[in-house]
Amino acid sequence: LIEGLLMLSRLDQDRAEISRIPLELNKIVRDYVADRIPLAESRKLTLTLNLAPDICPIKGDHGLLEQVLSILLTNALNYTPEGGLVTVSTHANKYNARLWSGFCVADSGPGISAEEQSHLFERFYRGKAARESKTPGTGLGLAIAMEIVSRHQGRIEMQSDGITGHGTQFSVWLPAEVPLMVVNPL
Ligand code: ATP
Ligand code: MG
Repeated sequence: LIEGLLMLSRLDQDRAEISRIPLELNKIVRDYVADRIPLAESRKLTLTLNLAPDICPIKGDHGLLEQVLSILLTNALNYTPEGGLVTVSTHANKYNARLWSGFCVADSGPGISAEEQSHLFERFYRGKAARESKTPGTGLGLAIAMEIVSRHQGRIEMQSDGITGHGTQFSVWLPAEVPLMVVNPL
């Protein structure tokens, strides 16, 4: 709880040091997901990885972006019942006349109702899945993820029809660093 509050306070006051180095999302996602496979197996969940071959690098803070992935994947692993499926994937997209690189965490869990969706990113909000699974937590995870993504000029989206078993998908989109085209003058 204290770590979460300190993190939010640093982000609120723009005191969080955010480095902007070129990063390959596929590498961050591949390494992080590999670390979490034992946890998924211990919960009898299938964790799969689907990497897009064609995504551009982004600029950002490796530790903070890994924290966003950790928040989303921890939720998926916590709130999806035994026997479920969690998939982490990367994607390229074109939106608002620019290229974006992103990652998604999708699960086959209980889903999130339309009413709850409007509160998800509020600080200290804990929903039905947290209550029913009796998972301890603070309700700060998604609020922190949202702050980190917006400090990277990115977007975070969620999709769920709220039907149990149809699951939830969170997507994080970050502005891509498009490689300069070298045009041969001849
Ligand atoms: P913590 O801050 O310790 O992570 P938390 O998981 O309750 O606690 P958030 O990560 O901010 O807090 O999530 C807020 C609420 O959103 C959760 O309590 C849960 O009800 C709901 N939620 C988040 N992810 C999922 C998911 N993948 N499936 C179903 N419900 C979810
Ligand atoms: Mg959480």
